[in-house]
Amino acid sequence: MQQLFDHIKILDHDKYTLPYCNCLLIEDDLNCLVDSSPHPKQRACLEGKKIDLIVNSHAHSDHNSCNHLFTEARVLLHPAEHERAASGETYLTAYGYYRFPDEATRPFYLDAVQYHARPADDELNDGMKISTGALEFEVIALPGHSIGHCGFFFPRQGFIYTADINLNIKPIYAMLDSSVDDYISSLERLREIKADMLVGGHGPALYTENLDSRLREYQNEILSREEQILKMVKGGTSDIPQIAEQAICFGGRFPEPRSVYYMHECVMALHHLERLERLGEVVCHEDRYYPARG
Ligand SMILES: [Zn+2]
Repeated sequence: MQQLFDHIKILDHDKYTLPYCNCLLIEDDLNCLVDSSPHPKQRACLEGKKIDLIVNSHAHSDHNSCNHLFTEARVLLHPAEHERAASGETYLTAYGYYRFPDEATRPFYLDAVQYHARPADDELNDGMKISTGALEFEVIALPGHSIGHCGFFFPRQGFIYTADINLNIKPIYAMLDSSVDDYISSLERLREIKADMLVGGHGPALYTENLDSRLREYQNEILSREEQILKMVKGGTSDIPQIAEQAICFGGRFPEPRSVYYMHECVMALHHLERLERLGEVVCHEDRYYPARG
């Protein structure tokens, strides 16, 4: 934990450890948590503290798993993710558990990620300004990773909390309503805002150097995956399960548990193939993909 600015502490953890994230604690007229799943080692400073407000970047449990512990807090979340915050079955469905079934982990997944159903109390929407007293910050919709993924821009302090647009972790868009196009637009939006610092949700949190070129590299990583997938389709691999075996989005090797990351890879390959279809590069016939030309 460190004091980032007046009124703002960061509860960060240097290692990318799931299901936890780097959170902000704002101590002001209203005490506010920006995301609520700090690593257990960082939780001591929240003990006994009254939290009035929680703003969640999105409804992944590694960002909201402690919402239910702060019984006096109002929880704000983008409306596109309200249902999955309130229902574990909706959460599993949104992850693709019924589209690319992984029966081995489905019965255990919600417990493993410390999912706790806690309906949101109100909405976050793009451009909304939130005041906690002395501090004010703005909601920046940054969809792509998930449909309602938001960042939080602190203009006076010059930084944006970017949650799962995290420069030390490769881009993930593994929900059925994730979107490659939205992800790319969100990266362009971050480049346009030109903040002095990005604060990521996992691992080392603070980024101040070469932000524009790093965001461009991040975008290129996504496009390079798409080129590799297109090459596979042109080489005759036509169905998503086979394409996903190559772990293109996970750098050629799945983390453990493999079956969960394989499912994520299937969903990410689906998003690329749907985009390639819109771009006229591939055609889809009975869930198989073929080159559109040549
Ligand atoms: Zn996430």
